[in-house]
Amino acid sequence: MVDAVSKGFGERKDGRAVQHVTLTNARGMRACFLSHGATLTELHVPDRKGLLGDVVLGFDKLSDFEEKSPYFGCTTGRVCNRIAKGRFSLDGKEYSLATNNEPNHLHGGLEGFDKVVWKITEVGGDSEGAWVRFRYLSEDGEEGYPGKLDVSVLYTLTPDNGLEIEYRATTDAATPVNLTHHSYFNLAGEGQGTILDHELTIHADRYTPVDDTMIPTGAIDPVADTDLDFRKPVTVGARIDRVAGGYDHNFVLDRDAKTSSFLAAVLKDPGSGRVMELWTDQPGVQFYTGNFLDGSLVGKSEKDYLKHGGLCLEPQHFPDSVNQPDWPSIILRPGEEYRQVSTFKFRVE
Ligand code: BGC
Repeated sequence: MVDAVSKGFGERKDGRAVQHVTLTNARGMRACFLSHGATLTELHVPDRKGLLGDVVLGFDKLSDFEEKSPYFGCTTGRVCNRIAKGRFSLDGKEYSLATNNEPNHLHGGLEGFDKVVWKITEVGGDSEGAWVRFRYLSEDGEEGYPGKLDVSVLYTLTPDNGLEIEYRATTDAATPVNLTHHSYFNLAGEGQGTILDHELTIHADRYTPVDDTMIPTGAIDPVADTDLDFRKPVTVGARIDRVAGGYDHNFVLDRDAKTSSFLAAVLKDPGSGRVMELWTDQPGVQFYTGNFLDGSLVGKSEKDYLKHGGLCLEPQHFPDSVNQPDWPSIILRPGEEYRQVSTFKFRVE
């Protein structure tokens, strides 16, 4: 039965109440969210025998999300990924942001959208699925960004086992906006070892190389003849040792700008038979293999999250776009609307 249920989930250290929402579709697929960070905390999808497994990393306790989370399942913004040295200029004015990932700005700063409490404005279910909408008003000057941003995230669990994520935002002054979803997926189930045996396809001919602080050099290079060539399915672990630190790269999708929904990536776990497709209207996707997990975080299943215990596929505009005038712009102006639709779709093989 399609269902959408909201309940209290305790208080944060600052005393603010947090809500928990569970969505269930007609096939029994289930997703849970917190208003803290508009975060996806659980995603239960069937394997080839029909058994449900929770395929995203996360915690049971709110305090763990507050204190320990390496961006598990959250909404990252106002600008996801890095901004070089936390600086950019817009319409002739210089802006300086927190360098919370020395020497750069990462995922919106010290208190990005992953760490704020969002308001639930809608929860519902019908034959089209079950949904929850979160909304957040980001003040002018918050984390150093100009303009008051009115932002919402609508998560819909579709009848065909998709998790559709729609972001919308408007502003009262020009500001950069680049939002993404930061789930760490393990299709064998969270806590079930690593994702090194998952097979991945990314429909990208090119990527944006970075310097040694993870800032794009400005080049857009071919993936051909590199360890970043995922145009045909490749096991994630097959070449990872040759990639310094593991994968953490922005791929330039082979998307025609007019195509609204593009199959960006396909991830398969041969053991469980679970397959996840990522469809998006964004120009890029960050592929990150949980390189900074090290076994010290204990997840929902009481199991340690190992290095490469999950991987992220983050649909986005390219990192540091605000400092690359030739790249697709992330500047939102008054009267315009930012909109992104990305869907993680599940099936079995
Ligand atoms: C970035 C990584 C970063 C991670 C934090 C990813 O989106 O690409 O460089 O370490 O987020 O969890």
